[in-house]
Amino acid sequence: STPILAGKRGLVMGLANDKSIAWGIAKACVGHGAELALTYQGAPLLKRVKPLAESLGVTMMLDCDVTDTPSMDAAFDRLRDEWGRLDFVVHAIAYSDREQLKGRYVNTTPENFDQTMRISCFSFTDVCRRAHPLMSEGGSLLTLTYYGAEQVMPHYNVMGVAKAALEASVRYLANDLGPEGIRVNAISAGPIRTLAASGIGDFRFILKWNEYNAPLRRNVSTDEVGNAAMYLLSDLASGVTGEVHHVDSGYHTVGMVAPDSASQ
Ligand code: NAD
Repeated sequence: STPILAGKRGLVMGLANDKSIAWGIAKACVGHGAELALTYQGAPLLKRVKPLAESLGVTMMLDCDVTDTPSMDAAFDRLRDEWGRLDFVVHAIAYSDREQLKGRYVNTTPENFDQTMRISCFSFTDVCRRAHPLMSEGGSLLTLTYYGAEQVMPHYNVMGVAKAALEASVRYLANDLGPEGIRVNAISAGPIRTLAASGIGDFRFILKWNEYNAPLRRNVSTDEVGNAAMYLLSDLASGVTGEVHHVDSGYHTVGMVAPDSASQ
């Protein structure tokens, strides 16, 4: 049978290393027939990202910092010039000062509030604005979020506030772009040990807590996020937009676990 993403061209943003969620998604996309372009954040990351890209046969690699307008312009100019059209974009990018991902939200500085919102929320809207004119045959736009948007999670702080805004922006973008046949969704991934996650205080404890308390009694992998992403990016999800899809071993469904559940 024809691979589910055969004939589709997509951009994956946010690959830092082989632990990145973007890597799990990129592998699933290529494995299901897509042709990819990748962005990475600045030259120092290239030596790590290039062998990964090459192992997937990806030749279009674009240096792109989402806060740097000329680099965003250049990346989307190149996509337009080389491909002319785009079928999907994955945005797997977030940033906050790690000093403020411990302790209390109440101490967030105005500078870090602005930067966290700019990189972790607005950049997705900016990417959508640039991508939708290239999606002449419809398309799928996907971002990554976390349960800290919905409920208080330890130390997630300003990132939780930014993810809440990101999830709201998914709904507004879905409504704006729906008439063009473009779908906009988010995956709310359970905690995964990545570079970005290493900045969050007590992350090891959070992983253990999820493992003990999620219905599946384990954490999720980047490959599992990749498979769910593949579905949302494909025509299998043609009726799905404005959605926050949890890939978290079911953790978000649990209000309270029985006191002895950890030992079951
Ligand atoms: P990661 O560190 O591998 O990826 C984060 C990426 O963001 C990096 O590639 C980094 O270069 C990029 N980035 C940061 N600032 C940027 C900028 N100004 N311009 C361009 N790129 C920039 O970590 P990850 O966990 O794979 O993160 C990917 C996404 O998944 C993030 O949105 C994160 O919040 C989300 N997420 C992660 C978890 C988790 O537990 N790891 C859970 C849910 C959601």
